[in-house]
Amino acid sequence: MAGEPQSDCLFCKIVSGEVPATIVRETETTVAFRDINPQAPTHVLVIPRVHYPDAASLAAGAPDVAADLLREAGEVAAQEKTDATGYRIVLNTGEGAGQTVFHTHAHVLGGRGLTWPPG
Ligand code: AMP
Ligand code: ZN
Repeated sequence: MAGEPQSDCLFCKIVSGEVPATIVRETETTVAFRDINPQAPTHVLVIPRVHYPDAASLAAGAPDVAADLLREAGEVAAQEKTDATGYRIVLNTGEGAGQTVFHTHAHVLGGRGLTWPPG
C-alpha cells in the first residue's frame, strides 16, 4: 500500500533504526540526517517516515507530509545557520536526474557558494 515501509529500502531502514545515521532533527513525520557523501559543508537529507518513491508521489499521496518535508528542510537550514547565506533544497527525481534512492529525500545543501544552473 502507498506509504507502507518497503523491506528493500535503505531509507525505510534508517527510519526504523535498522541502519544507523547521523540524525540532526526528527519530527512525527520526518527524519533529517547527514549525507554519507557530503557535497557541501552542510549536506543533510530530509525524508518522510512514510515511503513514497519521489517528491511528486509524496505530494499526491500525503500532501501534509510533503509540506512537513519542506518546512523541515528550512528548519535544518536554520539550525545549520545556512539560511543567512542561502541554501539549496534539491529533490532529484528519476535516474537521469541522479536519483539513486527511491524513497523521497530532500537534499539541503549550504555552507559554500552554490553555482547555477546545477550540473
Ligand atoms: P540521490 O542521488 O538524490 O538519490 O541521493 C541519495 C543520497 O543518499 C546520496 O547523496 C548518498 O550519498 C546518500 N546516502 C546513501 N546511503 C546513505 C546512508 N546510509 N546514509 C546517509 N546518506 C546516504
Ligand atoms: Zn522507503
